[in-house]
Amino acid sequence: MNENDGKEFAELGIKPWLIKQLFSLGIRSPTPIQKGCIQQILAGDDCIGAAKTGSGKTFAFALPILQHLAEDPYGIFALVLTPTHELAYQIGDQFSILGQPLKLRVCIVTGGSDQLEESLKLSKRPHIVVAMPGRLADHITGCDTFNLKKIKYLVLDEADRLFSESFQDDLETIFNALPAQRQNLLFSATITDDVKESKLLPLKKDKLLTWSE
Ligand code: AMP
Repeated sequence: MNENDGKEFAELGIKPWLIKQLFSLGIRSPTPIQKGCIQQILAGDDCIGAAKTGSGKTFAFALPILQHLAEDPYGIFALVLTPTHELAYQIGDQFSILGQPLKLRVCIVTGGSDQLEESLKLSKRPHIVVAMPGRLADHITGCDTFNLKKIKYLVLDEADRLFSESFQDDLETIFNALPAQRQNLLFSATITDDVKESKLLPLKKDKLLTWSE
């Protein structure tokens, strides 16, 4: 076996059906952030990863989430928060491509489309919700008929930007709607004290991976 036959992903604990999906995208070996985070995310740890766009960070969280989801698919299984419309669509696309064999339902909530339409999609129990904080908080306070109480994963993409003042109130609304038992996965260009020590989002200190290159 050589490094291009998927062995490295298998060694991280990734199942053959996902390795096949990666191969269909021409991806044969993990990037450093994937090597650094996937095993511990699969083991149930919280994680803070220092990562830029283009590092492969989306698959670093999407692969373990989808592998776990495949064992018992239901919606809403994971919530991903991100600060921009463009990133939300990029992340949603990457989940959809990898999750094709699961007939994965992904819902993007950004405020870029009609709120009623988004409400309808949320009520259909998507497996994965990728959202900008403001619009998701609007749906929560508007008493929409969707339930975030059973999510297993909360992902904060570009966590440093999300923890900036402008999103504080929205994040509080969202975090209050989530179960206490869940895995928190944070990715950030820089790991600031706001990210590490946020009172809004206490991390499991005894089971926390902090990764940077
Ligand atoms: P990111 O925005 O950091 O998630 O990076 C996204 C881009 O990296 C996408 O175009 C992916 O297809 C690509 N990518 C993710 N993982 C790998 C990998 N292991 N090898 C090569 N490209 C990858």
